[in-house]
Amino acid sequence: MKLGTYTIDVERALGDLGLEPKVWGSDYVKVACPFGDHANDDMRPGLGVVLETGQWQCFKGCGGGSFEQLASMVLEYTPVEARRWLLVRGGEVEYGIDDCLLNSAEEVIGYEFEAMFRQDYARQSTERTHSYILDRGFTPATLKEWGIRYDERTPSIVLPLFDDTGEHLVGIIRREIPGYPLGNKYLVSPGCKKTRFLYGAWKHPRNTGVVIVVEGPLDVIWMHQLGFTSTVGIMGSSLSKDQEKSLLKLGQTVFVAVDNDDAGRNLDAQIGDKLGHKLNVVKIELPKGRKDVQEMPREELMRIFTKGGNLW
Ligand SMILES: [Zn+2]
Repeated sequence: MKLGTYTIDVERALGDLGLEPKVWGSDYVKVACPFGDHANDDMRPGLGVVLETGQWQCFKGCGGGSFEQLASMVLEYTPVEARRWLLVRGGEVEYGIDDCLLNSAEEVIGYEFEAMFRQDYARQSTERTHSYILDRGFTPATLKEWGIRYDERTPSIVLPLFDDTGEHLVGIIRREIPGYPLGNKYLVSPGCKKTRFLYGAWKHPRNTGVVIVVEGPLDVIWMHQLGFTSTVGIMGSSLSKDQEKSLLKLGQTVFVAVDNDDAGRNLDAQIGDKLGHKLNVVKIELPKGRKDVQEMPREELMRIFTKGGNLW
């Protein structure tokens, strides 16, 4: 059965609902209907499910409809919860680019998507990478340290996103590489609520009193590779409430070193407005001609973080 671009094994999903097939047809199965007063009639199971589409029908008149509706009725879930339940449990999960875009705004409830993220991550190549990332100066040791992998099917750099503790995988981020457009520079997996997290916060040393804020995940990793290990990334163009709270826990001085463009200046002003009265916010001006921190070597970065020597 297809759910968006996901392929779900109907028989297995029925098993997960506690509905074991009793009769097998050429393209359908029958299970004991869980709804009517004939529910326990194992000899004449009354509910047929088409394997290809997941459509179901109780022949004693209890109802019929889509597989999502069946899951929703059996589990007493809302349609949205039932859909999530199916996406997580429904066997093989196939990611399509459109699907990522379609679902990126969905909220994660607790960590119910974690199994799906881990499944996706486990499939990505650790053997291969793309010259794009090495050409930009990232070392193999850095790729390993951050768990960066390569997706051969949707050619892209794969970066795991963890929560602040580093214990939970809360999403998979794909970074576009030249020649293989994703429709966005960075794409997060369906169900990932990236605005709740700061990229790299799980690696912040916590005892420096300082936090450096940059924009993208690769900016963060670049800074860490150069020894600026108090760096975290916003992963977007605005600072969320959750990110604001996380920053308050990481340090008393915030260095803002966002991109040298209008979006960056906007983000910079926003961070000043939101945190200026609570923390010591220091705006870092990138030199003319430098688009972001990834274009800068360590010496140059040390110079612009004037108090650098004392702070990390
Ligand atoms: Zn029935």
